[in-house]
Amino acid sequence: MSEKIKQRIAELRELIREHDYRYYVLGEPTISDTDYDKLFAELKELEDTHPELITPDSPTQRVTDRPLEGFPQVRHAVPMMSIDNTYSPQELREFDQRITRQPGIKGCEYVVELKIDGLAISIRYSNGVFVQAATRGDGQVGDDVTANVRTIRSVPLVLRHRDHLPEVLEVRGEVYMPNKAFLELNRLREEAGEPIFANPRNAAAGSLKLLDPRITASRNLAFFAYAIGQTSRPIGKTHMEVLTRLREYGLPVNPHSELAKDIDQVIQICDKWQAKRHQLPYQIDGMVIKVNRLDYQDTLGATARAPRWCIAYKFPAERAKTVVRSIDVQVGKSGILTPVANLDPVRLAGTMVKRASLHNFEEIKRLDVRCGDTVLVEKAGEIIPQVVEVLQEFRPPDAKPFPVPTRCPECGHKVVKDEGGVYIRCSNPDCPAQLKERLRYFAGRDQMDIENLGPALIDQLVDSGMVKNIADIYYLKKEQLLSLERMAEKSATNILNAIEASKTRPLWRFIAALGIRHIGRQSAQILAEHFGDLDSIMKASQDELASVDQIGPAMAQSVYEFFRDPKNKATVRQLLAAGVRPQPALRPKARSGPLAGKTVVVTGSLKSFTRQGVLEALRTAGARPAESVSRKTDYLVVGAEPGSKLDKARALGIPILTEEQLVQMLGGKGG
Ligand SMILES: [Zn+2]
Repeated sequence: MSEKIKQRIAELRELIREHDYRYYVLGEPTISDTDYDKLFAELKELEDTHPELITPDSPTQRVTDRPLEGFPQVRHAVPMMSIDNTYSPQELREFDQRITRQPGIKGCEYVVELKIDGLAISIRYSNGVFVQAATRGDGQVGDDVTANVRTIRSVPLVLRHRDHLPEVLEVRGEVYMPNKAFLELNRLREEAGEPIFANPRNAAAGSLKLLDPRITASRNLAFFAYAIGQTSRPIGKTHMEVLTRLREYGLPVNPHSELAKDIDQVIQICDKWQAKRHQLPYQIDGMVIKVNRLDYQDTLGATARAPRWCIAYKFPAERAKTVVRSIDVQVGKSGILTPVANLDPVRLAGTMVKRASLHNFEEIKRLDVRCGDTVLVEKAGEIIPQVVEVLQEFRPPDAKPFPVPTRCPECGHKVVKDEGGVYIRCSNPDCPAQLKERLRYFAGRDQMDIENLGPALIDQLVDSGMVKNIADIYYLKKEQLLSLERMAEKSATNILNAIEASKTRPLWRFIAALGIRHIGRQSAQILAEHFGDLDSIMKASQDELASVDQIGPAMAQSVYEFFRDPKNKATVRQLLAAGVRPQPALRPKARSGPLAGKTVVVTGSLKSFTRQGVLEALRTAGARPAESVSRKTDYLVVGAEPGSKLDKARALGIPILTEEQLVQMLGGKGG
């Protein structure tokens, strides 16, 4: 083990932590994402070759790939209390009067903070190292969500200024899902036919209670610290000082916390944010007002459920009144008919709203919404517009109930009702509207990622009859494309090249692209990793599928049935016949075989491997690739023009392998 490598690892970890701090806490990154990724990749590579140097606080160790068994209970050393709510400036003044009436409290300053709409969490640091995270639970006892909170990139695994930190420091704050992450997550879920989350708070809560931390890591949660729980010594005399300390320790603290010298100023700040709340990249549902002086907080104490020195000011939900001009019926990729209301444009929560999903025909009936109706719209979780109420008194006398379609609006085929009775589907397997949606999905950037195959072109291809199923796109000829309106030679070439390039996408993309019900990107990855190749997935029994970790019975059934359907089987056959070759997923590391557990060093250049390729192949075979030859080396693989490593191995009597011998031990495959 060279001292140099050890040093470089320490240096890389320090650099990555510093850049995380600049990015998440200061909001002033000084490095590009690409350069950051390079540092990360270098660290990962060194740690892979020297697993004995991996420590749990390394930035590479945020995500465990071991599924959790559950969430054991944790008793909070200091209870996590709830906060009383107020809804008007008058109530805020009453709160202030209750405080300033106390003997010994003269003129009270407050800290006013944004009330982030997320989930309260307590994170325990021991000598500056992240050791445990727990949910609020009932305030006394919460759930241990350590493995999932570790995956949140803005939560430091190691605090800064470790020499000055209290030995024990419990940090309290809010885990939340930024708007962008929420919209993206729901988009993916919708495409996979999974239920969408009603708002970012539910999405954050759901993500923290997943048994697979890898999925939690993919949810892009974030964190703001706003208080401390147990601590081995005080870190400030006022709340504002505590916030400053937390920021110095490297914790993300919301930059909008403000000091108010009296309750009038508190109300001003609340009003300001009520108007500006939609400019934030995350959801807030009000403000939190805290007495600044900690000795005053002690004097005031708490009731059984909430502290007396702190109060929440909740914003009312914003609604807007508008008129439903018409109702469109859209056909999705699985044939589901979705009614969508076209509205008179209205300003709501910071944006113009013109359309609102009515979800399904049961919902139309429940709301009794009709064309011409005046309605109230609200944003679910402040993001997705939704009709919440019909104002009957404004209904035009001739407004008729919206008829439930009996035929598909796109192809005229009969519709069928789902078993549950909520959804109505077009029953035509060749419905052009469904095919267009399926093609859009297939070519989408999270599936086959065919850049030049956009929605307008898909419409043209389907309408012209050139494409009658997904596989047909791989049989398109240039002359055909050139016969389309406004198609130039160069774009036709680009389109064909993009389609060609998609033939060798990874297996998981191919599985996701098929649009199997309940199977999104994540579950497609799990299936690809578990089964390795397409054939094994297609042949798997329902039991085999259901036995895969994270694949539920509904998913298993859906995959099984999909590949038993003659039409789907024919499409897959056609895709393969066209030369589509989904790239098999790397199988998990081998635990047996001639190289399992062996330390292997490579020197010189190899004919059938790149440097990266041979390391990958060795790891897959369960071997530990190493940099330098030592007594612990099991094999030295020698390529052309070997270096001094060969001499050293000879001197130590280490077995030497040629490239051919290595290939044999790897199971006969080059790469
Ligand atoms: Zn149809």
